[in-house]
Amino acid sequence: MTYKTLSFEVDSDGIALVTIDVPGETMNVWNADLIEDFAGVVDRIVEDDGVKGAVITSGKTTGFMAGADLNMLGGIEAASMKEAFEGAFRLNAMLRKLETGGKSAKELKKGLAHAKPIAAAVNGLALGGGLELVLACHYRVVSDHPKVQLGVPESMVGLLPGGGGTQRIPRLIGLQNAAMMATTGKPTDPATAKSQGLIHDVAPADELVAKAKEWVKANPKTAQPWDKQGFKFPGGGGAMDPRSVQFFIAANAMAQKQSKHNYPAIRYILSCMYEGSIVPIDTALRIESKYFTKLLASDQTRNMIRTLFVNKQAAEKGAARPKDVPASDIKTVGVLGAGLMGSGITHVSVQGGMNVIVLDRDMDAAEGAVAYSRKILDKKVSRGKMTQEKADAFLAKIKPTADYNDLKDVDLIIEAVFEDPDVKADVIKKTEAVIGEDIIFASNTSTLPITGLAKHSKRPEQFIGMHFFSPVEKMPLLEIIPGEKSGDKALAVALDYNKKIRKTPIVVKDVRGFYTNRVVPPYLNEAMLLVKEGVKPALIENAAANLGMPVGPLALTDETSLSLGWMLVQSTKKELGDEYKPTGVEDLLETMVEKLGRHGRKSGGGFYDYPEGGKKHLWPGLSEYFPLADDQPSVDDVKDRLLYAQLIPAAHCLADGIVPDAKSADLGAIFGWGFAPWSGGPASYIDTVGLDEFVSRADSLAQRFGERFHPPAAFRDKAKSGEKLYAKAA
Ligand code: NAD
Repeated sequence: MTYKTLSFEVDSDGIALVTIDVPGETMNVWNADLIEDFAGVVDRIVEDDGVKGAVITSGKTTGFMAGADLNMLGGIEAASMKEAFEGAFRLNAMLRKLETGGKSAKELKKGLAHAKPIAAAVNGLALGGGLELVLACHYRVVSDHPKVQLGVPESMVGLLPGGGGTQRIPRLIGLQNAAMMATTGKPTDPATAKSQGLIHDVAPADELVAKAKEWVKANPKTAQPWDKQGFKFPGGGGAMDPRSVQFFIAANAMAQKQSKHNYPAIRYILSCMYEGSIVPIDTALRIESKYFTKLLASDQTRNMIRTLFVNKQAAEKGAARPKDVPASDIKTVGVLGAGLMGSGITHVSVQGGMNVIVLDRDMDAAEGAVAYSRKILDKKVSRGKMTQEKADAFLAKIKPTADYNDLKDVDLIIEAVFEDPDVKADVIKKTEAVIGEDIIFASNTSTLPITGLAKHSKRPEQFIGMHFFSPVEKMPLLEIIPGEKSGDKALAVALDYNKKIRKTPIVVKDVRGFYTNRVVPPYLNEAMLLVKEGVKPALIENAAANLGMPVGPLALTDETSLSLGWMLVQSTKKELGDEYKPTGVEDLLETMVEKLGRHGRKSGGGFYDYPEGGKKHLWPGLSEYFPLADDQPSVDDVKDRLLYAQLIPAAHCLADGIVPDAKSADLGAIFGWGFAPWSGGPASYIDTVGLDEFVSRADSLAQRFGERFHPPAAFRDKAKSGEKLYAKAA
């Protein structure tokens, strides 16, 4: 018998070695072929008397298994919930058969039968369905490499661990630890897993299989703890144990406080654990599959999987890259400007394996980039997350300079000098005088059109925009902006570079604000309009939190600074003259900045106060200048305004082709400004509520609050013809 995804060899002791190595994948994943093969292997282990037990390991150097193939899950279209349940339950049934040896729970409990011993030799990361396979084995030995991760991250894409994770984990490490692990999705390391009882041992990678075989040989008759008489949940479980009752009361409250009721997966995980802890494991696994099926059939989970996994991965692999351009080999990047952004770009470039030559006006300024990285690395070293040697080697890859000649051998230029067209024109000229003729020049401008800047370049086809977000080492999005004359090579090199620094890229049109900066300002303005109307700032911030935004819009305004907002108002007015459309918050910005000196977080506070060493809190003095209204709106009304203040400009960007498609609109929103991840992004949200509902809601907001809520005409047409923003197979 041969298999597509694994090998099966039985040694002279009758111990089968199952080595999983899914072809065409860098990491093992549960796909249709592996499920098929593994079901065959389980039958063989259970039915063949010559097989006394088995060791399961991976043939990949990248790890044991990364989980289920979400591309496969996202695409499942079941004819009925019953059929969907059966599909979801297949993995559970197969793993249960492996751990029981095909015996009934009753037989095992009474000691009338035993399972064949199964050991997992885990030679690297085991996540999601990969860890669930490990947990269905009776003995688990894991590589002692500290970077090995063991976890169940399904909740991050709106799912729950559906291969027994919600049942076996609490039975091994207790409800509290299990709930933390499954609701946060955060992985654990082998040493912690061992101390908690999730695994049995850690050992050097090359000893794992021998150790596992040894255990199998020494334990010919076995059963999982929960298949033995008298099993109890560590730390208590079930509906009658006061410890677990108390735990569930607190856990539910805490989970909802954190997830703001936006993530059904979190609630279902706790439901699986509660309901599953009252019944025998065979029923518990069916309960898990029931909840798993419910999630998989929901629009919300499908949207999350589509944006946060499928489309994110495709974008990161370079879906937008022109195919005909040969791959570039970027070894050294020249960064112009060692300020906030240049330093961050330098840092992520070195992190991505490249050398950096960073140029500023003088050596002192250029050294700023080294200091920036040193600060980040020092923290890592002091926390034991990096050795001093590694930190030193990292810093040695940054060469600060004030001499353009040092740039002559770089493979790519990224410019991040002052946002001043004259300064930019000057550095473009000086740089092009020394770099190779075929080198791509990217500008990190946030407001200046790329086509305009490219006019200062001798080679506009090699000029492109690369818009990073601050702080660069933390923010996951990169907006890439081809100018009118940018060629395919410029886009290809930008995406090749992006692959190295591992950001999520979107390619957008060269218009003022590109995509993200056309959406965020109207959203922040809406919050400031609410302040002017006398709505309590706490209500505004909480409404945004309930919506699923990571920070409130007033806090975000403080971060980006009110003075920047005020400066933009003035420069836009100057640029547009009579064409300038007032936003309605000009007077608020002027009062805060000019009259009160409240510029934002970095200087003087803004909507918040930032006491030294203390926690930030809303500034109590605000209501003196913007008095509170007697009648406060409902939280739902505020939520709606804040949501549509993002949806409408995002919709306009989509309608006007500023973002090329629904997936880019969704990726840019979630990874650029933290748009509610539970929704899958603005386009997913609009598709889910339906275009006609979106248009009529927008119309009603426009009637009440002004034309800024008007939906694009193209969306009205689409709503009439019943179209969606995502084509069916997107
Ligand atoms: P910054 O003021 O912190 O840094 C600019 C650096 O450029 C300074 O170190 C300055 O000395 C240097 N510089 C100025 N003139 C120079 C010259 N002629 N030659 C060499 N170096 C020179 O500014 P920043 O916030 O890092 O912004 C840099 C660019 O990135 C701007 O175009 C800005 O619009 C853009 N940007 C900023 C952000 C942000 O959040 N700050 C986000 C995205 C893009």
